[in-house]
Amino acid sequence: MSSGPLHSPVTPHLPVKLRPEILALPAYRQGQAAPTGFKLSSNENPYDPLPGVLEAVDAATRQLHRYPNAAAPEITGRLAAEWGVEPDEVIVAAGSVALLMQFTLAAAGHGDEVVYSWRSFEVYPWMTVLPGATKVPVPNTPDHRHDLVAMAAAVTERTRLVLVCSPNNPTSSVVTAEEFEAFMAKVPTDVLVILDEAYAEFVTDPAAVNGRRLVRRYPNLVILRTFSKAYGLAGLRIGYGIGSPAILAAARTTIVPLSLTDHAQLAAIASLDRGDELRHRVAEISSRRDAVYDALLEQGWASIPRPHGNFLWYPTGPKTEEALEVFRRHGIVARAYLPDGIRLTIGEAESVQNVLDASEEIARLLA
Ligand SMILES: *Cc1c(COP(=O)(O)O)cnc(C)c1O
Repeated sequence: MSSGPLHSPVTPHLPVKLRPEILALPAYRQGQAAPTGFKLSSNENPYDPLPGVLEAVDAATRQLHRYPNAAAPEITGRLAAEWGVEPDEVIVAAGSVALLMQFTLAAAGHGDEVVYSWRSFEVYPWMTVLPGATKVPVPNTPDHRHDLVAMAAAVTERTRLVLVCSPNNPTSSVVTAEEFEAFMAKVPTDVLVILDEAYAEFVTDPAAVNGRRLVRRYPNLVILRTFSKAYGLAGLRIGYGIGSPAILAAARTTIVPLSLTDHAQLAAIASLDRGDELRHRVAEISSRRDAVYDALLEQGWASIPRPHGNFLWYPTGPKTEEALEVFRRHGIVARAYLPDGIRLTIGEAESVQNVLDASEEIARLLA
């Protein structure tokens, strides 16, 4: 959505009265599909669904004349056991984007402020505007990382939510555990902090923050995870949060009822049953990422921040559209974030040579 054409805030033929701040929002734009070549524009998993997933989905399909079980007891219990918490410390929804919206609705209204780093996930500014809250974007550091010191300083008595994205979409940088701890020490304990860890499974740096080690540590912290990326269930829509029961209870009241399908719940359980295979796949993607990054360093790409998710950030600046075109000529659909740069997903092994060839050409373009 960040690169989409803006709707005019003054629409001449509006048939009814609508909220101007909503009309001013750009329409959501998905990562482009690739009719031929490699679709490396949406941080998806290149693998087919894990064994057992299609069978689970098939079983749910036989019941699709029924509403789903909204309480999602099985997957909730399963996640509670995995995280060593009680079921009321787990919230499951139709994707972690749905959860981000639920928490924002629960925490922030007119006049309230939502603090996040920028550039970060393009959903953050959008979901802040929906309930009428005020965006407080805090610029990333020159090396494309969250500036947690500045983010803590941006918190005022109007702040209701602070979003920390690690690894950060789209720059693939992480917040360290130490930085996060210092940040949490400064944020008032009555301000909700969300740690959005959509790509946590791909992180191999031991210094990086890890929600797993923060469970029950801060009463105002909610950790978000998703089955869309490492688990490869993007098409089914399921994500979850871990946090204090009272905060999660408030977020449960803002849900779009019955939006979490049985298909998604059963597929997530089947995926958790295949943890070993999942970890093997994730390790493969992470080492492919590191190999690509090393090759890019060899090409002289000093400006790309070290990647920690399943994607890379090319700070191509004013040459972004030209660089995107170079990728396209090499059979690769990447995602442009005008006017800053390009995000490229680490995909199938067969795409790597095309990525490196295109990157070399782009490096020359920028030189
Ligand atoms: C992909 C992504 C999500 C996950 O979205 P789902 O709704 O679970 O598919 C959440 N946060 C970030 C930063 C992401 O990149």
